Amino acid sequence: MASCTECGNYFHAEYQWAKLCKPCYVASKKNELQDWMNRAFMAEAALRRQRQSTAQAPAFAPASAAMDPHFIRQLLQLCHPDKHAGSALANEVTQSLLKMRKTQ
Ligand SMILES: [Zn+2]
Repeated sequence: MASCTECGNYFHAEYQWAKLCKPCYVASKKNELQDWMNRAFMAEAALRRQRQSTAQAPAFAPASAAMDPHFIRQLLQLCHPDKHAGSALANEVTQSLLKMRKTQ
């Protein structure tokens, strides 16, 4: 028996490293997933804004379309398909970001 570090209830730990009872573990994973989904949503919104501002620019100058490489790296980390169960959207956004990185 182990004591859950979140709620304090005793539970049968299937693994020695288990610190949370099953309900708390599931809740923590749901929060983690929600957190990643929020980040992906924000990255998507940022990408959409970037696309819109690029599309609306009357005199398109390639230099002005360049995105900060550090920002692209952050977006790549957030969108990586491994973090989104290999979703098609994550793949598509990652491919776009990789292309953007190459053209810089
Ligand atoms: Zn618990």
